[in-house]
Amino acid sequence: MRLPREQTQEALEKEGLGSATDLLESNFMNQPHLSWERIRADFPILDQQVHGQPLVYFDNAATSQKPRAVLDALRHYYEHDNSNVHRGMHALSMRATDAYEAARVKLARYLNAASAEEIVFTRGATESINLVAQTWGIQNLRAGDVILLTEMEHHSNLVPWQLLAERTGATLRFLPINARHELALERLEELLTPEVKLFSFVHISNSLGTINPAAELCAAARKVGATTLVDAAQSAGHMPLDVQELGCDFLVLSGHKMCGPTGIGALYGKKALLDAMPPWQGGGEMILQVSYQKSTWKPAPYRFEAGTPNIAGAIALGAAVDYIESIGRAAIFEHDCALAQYAQKRLGEIPGLRVLGPPLGGARGGLVSFVMDQAHAHDVVTLADQAGIALRGGHHCTQPLMQKLGLESSARASFYFYNTKAEVDRLIDVLAKGQSHASATFSLPLGELYEAVVTDHATRPRNFGELGEGAVHVHGDNPSCGDTIDLHVQLTPEKVENIKFTGHGCTICMTSASLMTLKLKGKPLPEAKRLARLFHDHVAASPDAETGPGPRELGDLNVLGGVRQFPQRVKCAMLAWRAFEQALEEADAGVTEGAISTEEPQA
Ligand code: PMP
Repeated sequence: MRLPREQTQEALEKEGLGSATDLLESNFMNQPHLSWERIRADFPILDQQVHGQPLVYFDNAATSQKPRAVLDALRHYYEHDNSNVHRGMHALSMRATDAYEAARVKLARYLNAASAEEIVFTRGATESINLVAQTWGIQNLRAGDVILLTEMEHHSNLVPWQLLAERTGATLRFLPINARHELALERLEELLTPEVKLFSFVHISNSLGTINPAAELCAAARKVGATTLVDAAQSAGHMPLDVQELGCDFLVLSGHKMCGPTGIGALYGKKALLDAMPPWQGGGEMILQVSYQKSTWKPAPYRFEAGTPNIAGAIALGAAVDYIESIGRAAIFEHDCALAQYAQKRLGEIPGLRVLGPPLGGARGGLVSFVMDQAHAHDVVTLADQAGIALRGGHHCTQPLMQKLGLESSARASFYFYNTKAEVDRLIDVLAKGQSHASATFSLPLGELYEAVVTDHATRPRNFGELGEGAVHVHGDNPSCGDTIDLHVQLTPEKVENIKFTGHGCTICMTSASLMTLKLKGKPLPEAKRLARLFHDHVAASPDAETGPGPRELGDLNVLGGVRQFPQRVKCAMLAWRAFEQALEEADAGVTEGAISTEEPQA
């Protein structure tokens, strides 16, 4: 298969970027039955205004939008065929079963699996990996065995193997990334030793955009007899995939990232492997015979689908596959890659902005993550959101990778075939304006006073430091975005004697912590508690509540009241305060070390 990136690179080298990006519009135009207008019209959700601007949806790596054909398939199923599969003898049940099994066949063809029996329906990529870990993994791994992963794995392709390693005594090993944010392939031979029983790797990194050479990696693993798993969550909906050509043993995908509904995904596994694997969950549907003491199992894939499956989801995923095929995966890949190259080039022109992942012209799929000097990813995402542009900011479920890169978070724009070059231009305008508008911080559009106070405190946080012996220490973090605060509080029975903090976070988090320490230092405890409540009520009020000047006692902290317009940012403003409240509880309990966390899932 000829990779579009090669074409893009060629075009970049030969004729300059302009011609490479002209591909964007021409790809679909080459197909007479398609037009931009048609494609856009297939996605009703795209036709809306967000904060008064036409929506630009650049969060496709988290989840893609769904075309009308998929929405219609869901509706049709529930309006006409809704019934349970496999066990019924009546017309509706037989229709539901046929549609469910037809979806399996479509997915098998889509991946070029040898048969539909190699496709297990799951909830998504995460569940598929856990299934392999807990069946094949438990059966095949022993102490001394090695699971080889890469340094760019999503938590979904890391944590299940950590759990497995704990249970079996196997160890984890990592193929490193290089300075280009690609896999250091020259290290493969050294790391892929005979102890490696499984090599599981991401096909397209959801954080870096890097496309890994999956066929090459599978071939290398085969030489040492290692089983392979390809995490195709970011590639299955974006490029042609052929499991036989890749030579992988397992491959996992998420339906919702490829135009399908949430809650449905698939595991591809070679028939012989699936047949040899024990069941995972027990229950109805997966059995042949059950007695009070013992049961026997159906063959694969039914053995792995206990209970009533996500019937509507599977059927709609089948419709998504049909829809993607009607556009053409090669064209989609070419489009997404060219758009990402274009975005990378334009983003690189913004001063103080650094793009992660392979350099321009490198092996990059349809996404670009970036960091900005003075701007936390949260602030970038909120600013873009105000302009109607949906980005994602945070660690993208790749915390170890972020740590390796010395980052807490990044902002990410991820593309699909319905995105356009003009939309990328809009993003660039917003970011470039944001950058020049606020020189020191990339603050929210909350007015001049806000900007002055936030700029001051986020760049020169007060009471920044630690307190030694006798102080209560609370570590607070926002796992979804990487804000961390370490709060040190020296308490007497009467008052807050001293209070300091360290940490990294967005402007709101740092400003709130800095102002909080100024406000609480020296305050009698009942007064400090009252202020904490007052601040909470001020920022966490309903976005429609009167803004007004705010309670006088809060002073400069009142500027953070505007955060209520951005409900997703309230946790940033509250992090230090929640740590303070925890510190009071720790002190009451006679403890000096504590931690709090504001959990929020993200993809
Ligand atoms: N792997 C990668 C590379 C991903 O990007 C994601 C989703 N962000 C997953 C696995 C997990 O997918 P899901 O949450 O749909 O199971």
